[in-house]
Amino acid sequence: HPTIAVLALQGAFVEHEKMLRSIGIDSFEVRQLADWQRPKDGLIIPGGESTVQLKLLRDLRLLEPIREAIESGLPVFGTCAGLILLAKSVEGEDFDRLSTMDIDVRRNAYGRQLGSFSTEADFRGIGRVPMTFIRAPYINKVYGRAESLATVDGHIVAARQHNQLVTAFHPELNGDTRIHEFFAGIATNWANGHR
Ligand code: GLN
Repeated sequence: HPTIAVLALQGAFVEHEKMLRSIGIDSFEVRQLADWQRPKDGLIIPGGESTVQLKLLRDLRLLEPIREAIESGLPVFGTCAGLILLAKSVEGEDFDRLSTMDIDVRRNAYGRQLGSFSTEADFRGIGRVPMTFIRAPYINKVYGRAESLATVDGHIVAARQHNQLVTAFHPELNGDTRIHEFFAGIATNWANGHR
């Protein structure tokens, strides 16, 4: 089984840990650089507030090492704010984040009225899954090596680029474990190729 690091600076990291535990996957929290040195087969970047997470990643000197690990192939799963941190471009914001994924993103894309909502939609390779959106972004565009995995109302809400998986919604908030299992599969494959 893979061991998954969960970025635990801010946001909904505990819910991811619970989800992983429920499918028998070990995880540990990354709160500082020393945690990041531990062996791992994947990383989850949770939802929360991407601007706060970015500041903490910079202050704690985690931004560069995490970016390098992702560029070297470490599997990463970003939900919501995590998706924003992985995007190479965010509409109207001209600064770098982790910026490893060929997606262009709109933050807070659903406006005030529809800030939070739940729906169900098809997720490629998995089937219909529940999707909970909380002041969520959506993906304006995938390009390069990124591909869309799910759309809601014509907007891309999940994508993959090799080792990188992102969802605009929060799969850790529903009882459905299939997307976490899908990510655990990506991490297992990577671990098998590396050990
Ligand atoms: N609105 C948040 C941001 O822009 C993301 C919301 C979330 O992660 N649930 O970072």
